Amino acid sequence: MGEIMVIVVPIKQVPETSNVVLDPITGVMIRSSSKAILNPLDLYAIESALQIKESRGATIYAISMGPSSAIKVLKEAIAMGCDEGLLLSDRAFAGSDTWSTSYTLASAIKKIGKVDLIITGEKATDGDTGQVGPEIASWLNLPVSTYTSHILEVEEGSIKVKRLIEEGYQTEIIQTPCLLTVLKEIAFVRLATLKGKKRAMNTPIPIWGEKELELDSSYLGLKGSPTKVVKIEPTKVARSPIVVEAIEGESVVKGVSSLIEFLQSNNVLTKRGLHE
Ligand SMILES: Cc1cc2nc3c(=O)[nH]c(=O)nc-3n(C[C@H](O)[C@H](O)[C@H](O)COP(=O)(O)OP(=O)(O)OC[C@H]3O[C@@H](n4cnc5c(N)ncnc54)[C@H](O)[C@@H]3O)c2cc1C
Repeated sequence: MGEIMVIVVPIKQVPETSNVVLDPITGVMIRSSSKAILNPLDLYAIESALQIKESRGATIYAISMGPSSAIKVLKEAIAMGCDEGLLLSDRAFAGSDTWSTSYTLASAIKKIGKVDLIITGEKATDGDTGQVGPEIASWLNLPVSTYTSHILEVEEGSIKVKRLIEEGYQTEIIQTPCLLTVLKEIAFVRLATLKGKKRAMNTPIPIWGEKELELDSSYLGLKGSPTKVVKIEPTKVARSPIVVEAIEGESVVKGVSSLIEFLQSNNVLTKRGLHE
């Protein structure tokens, strides 16, 4: 790519813990209910962009949609080596589902201008849908490669990647501009340097809202979101273990037959399975 490559990495601020508190009325997460961190899976997206920058030069924008506290995660991305940070923040964005979130992120990427590559994490540890990446690609009408495990080659106009599929791995060449969602196995994440942290402190983070992005307000926030999180229930794992004592002789035989009974009564083992 004669011109310097432009890479955008959307990163999300997420609660540090899984015990998130939801507003009982709106079902929206009360983000101040726990300490916020950079979505751990986005570190691999940042690292992937930095490795491309080192191998062939690039300008990397880290962008995040969230409350003003999300500036912290953008500073972390700059301390790791990203060039610019952009915060998309506006009361109108509150309660956005993935469709509305991806619309806002895609609009910001359009406003940045010529972008060659967008790299997102596999998923966010709170919403955990993995939908935002492919949705951004859809808004921007870009090809997308999900579950990318390796970036093999970055050429003029195309990228060769390996991605995880159910049957194993698939290698594909994808035209740029495009979007990749990346897996943890793609790279070892570097630590931010002191020099990087100093640069992050001195790098201003512009904040874009509904007005700056000229967004369609009917697509925004809780009202503009087709999906509403109405309730989150922790999964209850009901365990009722049986204890089988099989020390020697008789008790082993008894133990094995009560184990078989248990497996049959739970439809793990069928009568037929026993004889095959
Ligand atoms: C427990 C819970 C369940 C939810 N379930 C749903 C649901 O089923 N459907 C739905 O539409 N919404 C749901 N939401 C709302 C959803 O979390 C938000 O819309 C969120 O902004 C994006 O979805 P996600 O967290 O699933 O991100 P994912 O789609 O898992 O994130 C994938 C990648 O997209 C990028 N990304 C995601 N969010 C942002 C952001 N705000 N800024 C920058 N980059 C970002 C990151 O690179 C991230 O790695 C849920 C929220 C919670 C807390």
